[in-house]
Amino acid sequence: MDEMPGWAAGVDVDRPSAARMYDYALGGSHNFAADREATQAVIAAFPDGPLVARSNRLFLHRAVRFLAAEAGITQFLDLGSGVPTVGNVHEVAQGVNPQARVVYVDIDPVAVVHSRMLLADNPLAAVLQADIREPASILGSSEVTRLLDLSRPVAVLMVTVLHFVADGDDPAGIIGAFRAATVPGSYLAVSHVTADERAEQVHGAGKVYESTPTGVTPRSRATIAGLLAGYDLVEPGLVYLPSWRPDEAHGGLDPLAADPSRAVALAAVGRR
Ligand code: SAM
Repeated sequence: MDEMPGWAAGVDVDRPSAARMYDYALGGSHNFAADREATQAVIAAFPDGPLVARSNRLFLHRAVRFLAAEAGITQFLDLGSGVPTVGNVHEVAQGVNPQARVVYVDIDPVAVVHSRMLLADNPLAAVLQADIREPASILGSSEVTRLLDLSRPVAVLMVTVLHFVADGDDPAGIIGAFRAATVPGSYLAVSHVTADERAEQVHGAGKVYESTPTGVTPRSRATIAGLLAGYDLVEPGLVYLPSWRPDEAHGGLDPLAADPSRAVALAAVGRR
């Protein structure tokens, strides 16, 4: 991918990005040398990194399946959606309900261009390049107003994205803006890196992200729980990724199931 494919036009390939590093950690091919070097540095500090990426992806699948199949949600707003990979939100949701609608949002141009290609033939899904720190621009976008009916319940997904929002950018205010835009009966799904355990490894890996545009802010369980205020968490509440409704039948066994805290990220789904 280093010969500058057409989709890379205008992308700063010399600066690693969280989206492309995650793609590489998951075995994807939409990344560049700088992303791969940065990911190797993360792995040197935190060898479980690729397993955490896989564990997070499995949580996302289980959460979307729960929302579509059990909670009856038909509309999804996936914030910080990433580079498309196996089991994207629209694939899981539309696998349950072919009428499910999905709007993907990411700040990273490579994530957006690949999502756009993937969704070209899907009239019920769209992607928007935007910054979640600007909720009004997302909520007022033509993609959201065309595809999502905010007078009906919607699931807002913030899966491994909030730790890319610094404290100074008011993560609680961002969540609050999306919560205020949704009606009761809507849901929020979150996963978030914590350094409550394995602090040295998490902070070591976090240092690598200082060279990316987004940086990383791990937060404590108490702080993450506070960000979820206004939502009633469904069982089992706020837990390490592999412990959120494990379901081998859908998606397979989490690689960190035997020792969930190795996933260094907490996950929850809450109902407004
Ligand atoms: N949500 C997907 C998942 O869990 O599999 C992808 C997670 S990936 C680790 C984090 C994504 O958040 C990246 O694609 C990154 O570009 C995006 N991101 C980071 N900061 C963002 C922001 N301020 N606005 C929108 N997207 C952002």
